[in-house]
Amino acid sequence: MLESLKEEVFRANLDLVKHGLVIFTWGNVSAIDRTSGLVVIKPSGVPYDRMKAGDMVVTDLEGNVVEGRLKPSSDAPTHVALYKAFPGTGGIVHTHSTYATAWAQAGRDIPNIGTTHADYFHDAIPCTDDMTEAEVNGAYELETGHVIIKRFEGLNPVHTPGVLVKNHGPFAWGKDAHDAVHNAVVMEQVAKMACIAYGINPNLTMNPLLIEKHFSRKHGPNAYYGQ
Ligand SMILES: [Zn+2]
Repeated sequence: MLESLKEEVFRANLDLVKHGLVIFTWGNVSAIDRTSGLVVIKPSGVPYDRMKAGDMVVTDLEGNVVEGRLKPSSDAPTHVALYKAFPGTGGIVHTHSTYATAWAQAGRDIPNIGTTHADYFHDAIPCTDDMTEAEVNGAYELETGHVIIKRFEGLNPVHTPGVLVKNHGPFAWGKDAHDAVHNAVVMEQVAKMACIAYGINPNLTMNPLLIEKHFSRKHGPNAYYGQ
């Protein structure tokens, strides 16, 4: 079932390696088929160089395995929670990419201080709150999803397709698996550039007009960027 989506998710997982976002087996990509409500996700702990499209695991929106010989990624409950909360999302990526994870460990939102950021993310890329003891000791991966969803109260997840989980790392999403990987790569790059920029000038500023200009060139009713 969902053979073409499995192929897409498999390729998107390999793209994380190609773009230098993961080492070992850290990181995972999933995608959802909104018609059936089924999620395809990377299996847990399988090395990227031995992984096959047929190893992808199919789960329902409660996280139950519907098809697959292997266990799904341990982060599957986080992915599923986000698919339920953010209906515009078709693909989700989690990595421990260096610069985005550094911001997560520092517990700081990545401010929107450049046009690269503004082309893809309207707002600062938010960092979640600390997780409570009950959340850490409870259904940890599901609760990770819940702290992300709570952080997005008042934010539009389509306009800001990524988050930093405090002391952990980034999640990014998009309209499909490929788009989610693209946003994860951009997030790592803007995290790196912001880190360097603040090192050069801790008091840097950006005109909000420039943010609106760049964001609206690519998104919304008056978008004109691209073909
Ligand atoms: Zn992680």
